Amino acid sequence: MKILSAELVTSASVGGPRGGVLRDDLPQFAFAGRSNVGKSSLLNALMRQKLARTSAAAGKTRQANIYRVTVDDAPGRPGRWSTYFVDLPGYGYARGGEESVKELEQVVAAYFAAAHGSNAARDGHDRRRGTIFLLVDSRHPGLPADVQAHHWIGESAVTPIVVATKIDKLSRSERAKSLRDLERIYHRPALAVSTLSGDGIDDLWRVIAATARGEE
Ligand code: GDP
Repeated sequence: MKILSAELVTSASVGGPRGGVLRDDLPQFAFAGRSNVGKSSLLNALMRQKLARTSAAAGKTRQANIYRVTVDDAPGRPGRWSTYFVDLPGYGYARGGEESVKELEQVVAAYFAAAHGSNAARDGHDRRRGTIFLLVDSRHPGLPADVQAHHWIGESAVTPIVVATKIDKLSRSERAKSLRDLERIYHRPALAVSTLSGDGIDDLWRVIAATARGEE
């Protein structure tokens, strides 16, 4: 995947009027996860630029940062296309699961309420707008806050795609076990990534490209 450009479009207070959600027809991919799970690092790895801020203000920001990314597919593919990456506020940093998941609920509810009012949603195409990746630390599958977040997002919006982060920290056998556990807990295979080794980044781009084209 060739990244032609990646830029921060807006830092939107998702609880605000219209949620600050962009209203054109580009597919949107939202990224959720506990603070420190590796979300900024993953976004930077996907965009191949240090646009997302890593852990400095962990858990502090209540804003969604929205990036527009333009890419050029492999030869033989439709070519140049653009998408939005929505960096949702991290939840659960040094706090109880209950409270932090409530925070995420508010953020996701505002995000989807706004998205549903958009032109694309009226035309019935909001399936393409509503992909959420839920990032979980591969070393800790099944944390209550993550399970709650997964459940809640699935109930209120779309079933999130689970992405297991920091797999470089696990041995080969631990990786396999973590992925088995995650599939058992979330009823669907998880994608495994490491921003340190680069493992899984191309796979994640393939999922994004296929979803953006409506193939998944
Ligand atoms: P965020 O709070 O979810 O945005 O998390 P960050 O991207 O800021 O990452 C939190 C910490 O985990 C930082 O110290 C990163 O360097 C580290 N980290 C992120 N991704 C990886 C990874 O794939 N492997 C390893 N070993 N560390 C990572």
